[in-house]
Amino acid sequence: MRQPVIAGNWKMYKTVSEAVQFALDFKPHVVNSHHCEIVLAPTFTSLKTLNDRLEGSNIKTAGQNVCDRAGEGAFTGEVSAKMLKDVGCSYVIIGHSERRQYFGETDESVNRKIKVSLAAGLTPIVCVGENLAEREAGLMEKTVGSQVKQGFSSLTEDDLLRILIAYEPVWAIGTGRTATPEIAASMHHFIRSSLAEGWGKSVSQKVRILYGGSVKPENIVSLMSEEEIDGALVGGASLEPESFARIVNYNRV
Ligand code: PEP
Repeated sequence: MRQPVIAGNWKMYKTVSEAVQFALDFKPHVVNSHHCEIVLAPTFTSLKTLNDRLEGSNIKTAGQNVCDRAGEGAFTGEVSAKMLKDVGCSYVIIGHSERRQYFGETDESVNRKIKVSLAAGLTPIVCVGENLAEREAGLMEKTVGSQVKQGFSSLTEDDLLRILIAYEPVWAIGTGRTATPEIAASMHHFIRSSLAEGWGKSVSQKVRILYGGSVKPENIVSLMSEEEIDGALVGGASLEPESFARIVNYNRV
């Protein structure tokens, strides 16, 4: 049984006081929601305060990025895995398509980030997904297969079991255009088969694969009814407490 995960990615939205207000408004909606892990990924500047406010609750936090270097050093502007852990993070998003598209993230840097995050005791949420041109050309499996192979290169079975994957087709992120549950499930199935090839069937059956791309209260139930879909990584609809709470509480509809 794979425990579902519902994670909200706030991207570059919300000041510290806005993040705290969200926590105050959101907590009562999910206080009894134990069917899934609940994760919020605010900006680095809000992490410490938000974690203090969420202490003792069933809501955990994620960094939206992490430096790919181990330890500490002269890397201006970077935040290490140890620093994320130090402010109370449990998860870290790695390889989001916006980081790949605008900040030059590659499968090689994704691989290094996964390794430093695991070493620091963080759970990586690793994003993969094809863009529109790749989907239209029928190349989605080639793209995603290569992201999995290169991004997870030289990871052990134990490492794999500590990772969450988010399948996020780039054409569905922030566009309002969601993959149908069938399209998402078929790509999740493909990712699981790729994992089985590299790390064996038993591991592949245990790894949790989230879907991301215009998830909303209106489509979460049909997405979560697919056996292959183990949760969601939510952007826009996670910015508003009631909307994100409806997504988290998809099982109560
Ligand atoms: C995301 O940021 O990972 C995402 C899926 O965004 P949205 O839900 O807004 O499409």
